[in-house]
Amino acid sequence: MKIAFTWDYELFFGVHSGTVSACMLHPTNRLLEIAKKHQASFTFFPDAGYLLHAASESSCAEELDKVECQIKTWDEAGHETGLHIHPHWEDSIYSNGAWQHDLKHYKLSDFKQEVAREIIHRYHKRIQGLVNGKVRSYRAGGWCVQPFEPLKTAFEEVGIVIDSSVFKGGKNTRTPYNYDFTDAPMKDKYSFVDDVLVENSKGSFLEIPIASFRYSPLFFWRLFILGRLNPKDHKGMGDGVPAAGGGSKKKLLTQYNTLSVNADGYFITKVESAMEKAKHLGHEHLVVIGHPKACTNFSLKSLDLFMEKYKSEVEFVTLSSLK
Ligand SMILES: [Zn+2]
Repeated sequence: MKIAFTWDYELFFGVHSGTVSACMLHPTNRLLEIAKKHQASFTFFPDAGYLLHAASESSCAEELDKVECQIKTWDEAGHETGLHIHPHWEDSIYSNGAWQHDLKHYKLSDFKQEVAREIIHRYHKRIQGLVNGKVRSYRAGGWCVQPFEPLKTAFEEVGIVIDSSVFKGGKNTRTPYNYDFTDAPMKDKYSFVDDVLVENSKGSFLEIPIASFRYSPLFFWRLFILGRLNPKDHKGMGDGVPAAGGGSKKKLLTQYNTLSVNADGYFITKVESAMEKAKHLGHEHLVVIGHPKACTNFSLKSLDLFMEKYKSEVEFVTLSSLK
């Protein structure tokens, strides 16, 4: 079994974006220490919009320098860097020491095709300029990769060959999100032409989906109670507020929910079960999503223990090595 831990490296997009230090730099340093200890390779998806827009704010110069330095550090340590696009940055403004986000153009499909194409080129160029290897993997901001067809040519032009935005069974059509992965193939990878849910062996793009898992209401009761009882271990390290529309607390506490397999906070406790499920399905690998901003003391300790426990039977690899 191979596991690719993939980290979306970004601020928050709600009413408080949080600080670069708490949301990105600090937790990522902890992740890099864990990776080094276990000789593991991770994949990072830095938010290209942040990098572009912080560059035009002189008061962000110092933090931007640290972010660029961290990206170069992980690149030199052999971790993969992918393209992560949150195009709402086009409308973001910096005022009173914080970013104000307007999410009316949250996803690439909210822009005209020509504008979206230009964004893909500009964002890819920004990330490519920081790393040595070719940036070939893509993850859509907020999983909003559909419809893919209008963006296909632009992705071909910049050299993207892998998408890892889909998770089987995932669905969120509440504004500003819009994705529906109900009909995704039950596979750990497949080629496609212009629809991320339709396998086509002649396709030049490869979908390597994030694994998915059906979480019970009991799981969320535990998650919320632990957060209240023991914030020191269970509170996310990032100091911002998520964008609205992510999920209703009532729904999580009262019914089963199919969500991504992820390494954020208490969710990491299900990676082991997800791995067993993947083996059962005959899958050869598992892609796990995570966010430095959502790491907790508990999740980092659990990640360390998990890697120690499975070091002889699991390879911890980059996303593109699963090609
Ligand atoms: Zn993101």
